[in-house]
Amino acid sequence: MTSVSGLSGERFEVVVIGGGLAGLATAASLGAQGCHPILVLESETAPGAHSSGKNAGLVRQAAEDPQTTELCVRGAELIRRRQQRCPDLFQQSGSLIISDENHVPASSWAQVEPQILSEDAVRQHYPELQAWPGGQAYWTPTDGIIDVPKLLGSLMEDLVSGGGDVAFGAAAGRVKKLDSGGFQIEVRASSSGNPVIGEVLCDQLVIANGAWAAEFSGASDMPISLNVTNRGCLITDSGGFDNQVRPWIWSDLAGWYLRPMGDSLLWSACEEEEAAAGVLNLSTDLEDYWREKVKGSWDPSGQSLKRLSSWVGQRTFCPDRKFLLGEDSRCHGWHWAVGLGGHGVTCALAVGERVAGSVLGEDTPADWAWSEDRFVSSSKSLP
Ligand SMILES: Cc1cc2nc3c(=O)[nH]c(=O)nc-3n(C[C@H](O)[C@H](O)[C@H](O)COP(=O)(O)OP(=O)(O)OC[C@H]3O[C@@H](n4cnc5c(N)ncnc54)[C@H](O)[C@@H]3O)c2cc1C
Repeated sequence: MTSVSGLSGERFEVVVIGGGLAGLATAASLGAQGCHPILVLESETAPGAHSSGKNAGLVRQAAEDPQTTELCVRGAELIRRRQQRCPDLFQQSGSLIISDENHVPASSWAQVEPQILSEDAVRQHYPELQAWPGGQAYWTPTDGIIDVPKLLGSLMEDLVSGGGDVAFGAAAGRVKKLDSGGFQIEVRASSSGNPVIGEVLCDQLVIANGAWAAEFSGASDMPISLNVTNRGCLITDSGGFDNQVRPWIWSDLAGWYLRPMGDSLLWSACEEEEAAAGVLNLSTDLEDYWREKVKGSWDPSGQSLKRLSSWVGQRTFCPDRKFLLGEDSRCHGWHWAVGLGGHGVTCALAVGERVAGSVLGEDTPADWAWSEDRFVSSSKSLP
C-alpha cells in the first residue's frame, strides 16, 4: 500500500478514484490483463467503507431493465467462477422474487429463466408469509448471497498480485487535463476539506467514487447528474426461525426483502430517500417503517422480532437508472464506473470487466456510455 504522503508527481498508466467494489473490480481486471502501473485512490482508510460495505449482499440477476439484467447475469457468472478459488464467497441459496411486469419486465426474466411458483410452494420455504403481497413468485435457483468483505479482500489480493497499488486516506481533488496528454490529480489527506498534499499523473482515469461522483467530476468541469438515495438494513433475531438454508425473498410490490444471516435475519423496507453524498439519515424511524411495511404480509409474530442492529447506506442512480460505464466522449481517457444503484454487488465483476475493456480500447455500448440524451444538462467539456 502506498502512503498518502508519498504521492508526489508519480505517473501511472491508470488511476482509479474510489476503492469500493466498482473501483477495485476495475483495477483488478486491468491488472489481470497486464495493465500497469495502476493506482487506486481511496479517501477512507479501508476498502468498501461506503455503499460496498453497507448493503445486503444479495446476488439478484433479474433487474428492472434488460440491459442491467445482462450485467447482473454476467456478474453472477463471474462470482460463481471466483468461488472456485475463493471458498465460501457465494452461497447459492436461490431467490424468491414476488413481482409483476411493472417491476421486472419479461425481457429481463427471459435472461434468467426462473420457475413460477405457486403461493403454496412459496410457503413451503416461508410459512410465515401470510397475506399474499400480490404478483407472481419467481424462483431463481442460481441467485444467492455473497460474502462482501471476502469479495473486497479477494479483489485487493488480485490488484496487488497484478502489480497494482492502493493509497488509503487519499482523497482525489481537482483533475486537470494536461496539454501533453493524460491527467494531473490533486491528492488531499482523507477529505476534500483538507489542503492538497500531493499530486499524481496518469494516462487514463477511472471515476468510481459512487455517491461523490457528480460533485467530484463537476469540480473538474465534467458535469453529470446523479441521484443519491438512502436505504436502510435492519438486523433482527430469528424469532424462532429454524436455521435451514432458505432462499432470500423479496416482494417488489409490498417493498421489503429478507435474507437469513447466520442466526439472525436481515430485512430492508426498501426506503428510497434522496440525500447528499455521505449524509446517512432517514426521515422516518427505520424500525417503525419496516414494521409497518411487513405488517400486511408477514406472520403477526414477526412483529415481535427483536431489532439487533441497523444501518443506512447510499444507492446512486443516473437519471435513467442505468449504469454509467466506459469512456466519456467529451474527454479522451476519462472513464466512468458509477451509478450502480441497487445492483453494484451483483454486477461488480461485470462492471470491472467492462470498464477495464474500455480503458484498453473497447467501445462502450450506447446504453451505458455518457451522452447528451442520457445526461441532458451535461454538455461542457474539459478546458
Ligand atoms: C442498503 C443497501 C443494500 C444494497 N443491497 C444490495 C444487494 O443486495 N445486491 C446488490 O447487488 N447491490 C446492493 N446494493 C448496491 C451496492 O451496494 C452498490 O451498488 C455498490 O456498493 C456501489 O459500489 P461503488 O464502488 O460504486 O460505491 P462505493 O462503495 O460507495 O465506493 C465509492 C468509494 O469512493 C470513495 N471516494 C469518494 N470520493 C473520493 C475521492 N474524492 N477520492 C478517493 N476516494 C473517494 C469512497 O470513500 C468509497 O469508498 C445495496 C445498497 C444499499 C445502500
